Amino acid sequence: MPQVQKALEYVRANRDSFMNRYLDLLSIPSVSTLPENRQDVQKNALWLAGQLRGIGATRVDVIETPGHPIVYGERLDAPGKPTLLVYGHYDVQPADPLDEWQSDPFKPEIRGQNVYARGASDMKGSLMAFIMAAEAVARQGRAGAPMPVNLKFLLEGEEEIGSTHLPEFISSHRDLLKADAVVNCDGTISGPDLPSITYALRGLAYFELEVRGPRQDLHSGIFGGSIANPAQVLSELIAGMHDADGRVTLPGFYDKVRPLDEAERAALARLPTTDGQWIAMTGSPALCGEKGYTTLERVGARPTLEVNGIVSGFTGEGAKTVLPAKAMAKISMRLVADQDPADVYGQLQAYVESHAPDTVTWEVRELSRGPGAIMSRDSVAMKAAVAALAETFGVEPVFRREGGSVPVVGHMQQELGLDSIMLGFGLPDDNIHGPNEKQHLPTLLKGIEAYVRFLERLGA
Ligand SMILES: [Zn+2]
Repeated sequence: MPQVQKALEYVRANRDSFMNRYLDLLSIPSVSTLPENRQDVQKNALWLAGQLRGIGATRVDVIETPGHPIVYGERLDAPGKPTLLVYGHYDVQPADPLDEWQSDPFKPEIRGQNVYARGASDMKGSLMAFIMAAEAVARQGRAGAPMPVNLKFLLEGEEEIGSTHLPEFISSHRDLLKADAVVNCDGTISGPDLPSITYALRGLAYFELEVRGPRQDLHSGIFGGSIANPAQVLSELIAGMHDADGRVTLPGFYDKVRPLDEAERAALARLPTTDGQWIAMTGSPALCGEKGYTTLERVGARPTLEVNGIVSGFTGEGAKTVLPAKAMAKISMRLVADQDPADVYGQLQAYVESHAPDTVTWEVRELSRGPGAIMSRDSVAMKAAVAALAETFGVEPVFRREGGSVPVVGHMQQELGLDSIMLGFGLPDDNIHGPNEKQHLPTLLKGIEAYVRFLERLGA
């Protein structure tokens, strides 16, 4: 494939230009949550629009939302070839605690093989790498020859604050965003020598469960023993939400859970993470979880239920003999394909209905919901990504399931009917969201090459 070689040569010849632009991008403090950085986020959107024009995008829009702008760009001059929708975000987390940074978070500094700056890994590195790859493919050696694929870019400035306005934008722009495949550049690989592709993400259902007893807090000496204590009732309800095997007891909770097949289990077993590392990483004395599954299966392929917080009664200093009037817990479930977050609400209701005593009243409030997602491992786009990683790193990528949620992936699946290929080049120890965020430069340079090969293969 001479085109690929020419594009790769372009990448090598333009490494300095790439680095300069990457460092420029890192110097813009596009912190989406802080009002004082509003102008910087705007500036970043315009800066990116310029980059998209640089790769020959014929339409580039910086679209205002009630929050931060969405940058849309397209280059559709590859008739008969697939259209790839590229997702990325250009906003970053706040940098604090500032005194824990070794260098200014918005004055990128190269130390050893890494560049240190807020957003270096999450995700300005992979975003710039993809733009560089598209530029290499577009400019090198084509001389009138068509692009291997059509490109559409969807870049948001609100990912770090929950993608407030993106779902609505996607739902109302289905035609604009029509594509054959999505590449989501917001991701990591398992190690500098171990490329990986995340093909499953968990969803989330989040609730408050409030248990109420007497009209107001009571004297525990006068009333204790005659009135049910909401804190105790809530505790018993929570304790009953798992059985002795670590399974969630909400009725019907596992009905739609897609089981792991043997090939998947074998693939997950190839990942290098050990239980010992998991213990060291968390500082917890021992591991726990659903019987019959490994740690990585538990966090990636099985749904879970967690208590995120409990409030009730007197929690100040010293003693106060009170029988609290109410108790509240924040409870969330991480969901896997094909669980429906709306079903889970009903399951929690049904569980409390059948277990709560009539000495209290209760209420379940839903705070948020998002579906999990699982992507086909043998689509054309996935095969192109696997081959691109294998050629670039010299080793077959491993398939990985992730315990966290990336809501945009589920939204795109639901609204556009498209699987996302998660292809990004951060590393697990990049300190994203923390002080001294870094990006490993050799990995990022390989990332550009992998994106080039991915684009060429997708069009082949
Ligand atoms: Zn990110």
